[in-house]
Amino acid sequence: MIVITPESSALQAPEEWNEQYKEKDFWGQDKYEIGRRLSALAPEERTPEVIAEIIGNTTWAQSTACDECGLYCDVVVSFENFSGYAFMLCKDCLKNALAEVNKEKEKVK
Ligand SMILES: [Zn+2]
Repeated sequence: MIVITPESSALQAPEEWNEQYKEKDFWGQDKYEIGRRLSALAPEERTPEVIAEIIGNTTWAQSTACDECGLYCDVVVSFENFSGYAFMLCKDCLKNALAEVNKEKEKVK
């Protein structure tokens, strides 16, 4: 389980970009150049704004959709199963889930 925010996504963006576009001959010079610029950033320079400016869109470091309610949230928790499928939940959906668990626990008593 990991917590994902636009800031944590921005921090990971250079590695993820370079992994996605590592086949330079296939993806071309533009993607390679973006990856080179991203890799040159120090960790403290990897803000959502800087990442968006280099890539040309905000999708690599923005709010993430909750897989339960569908709302875009600045903080989600990502759960990953054994096959690598990730499921994101927002704070409200986590609270609702915990409330349901606690209700069941009360029934059992
Ligand atoms: Zn939610």
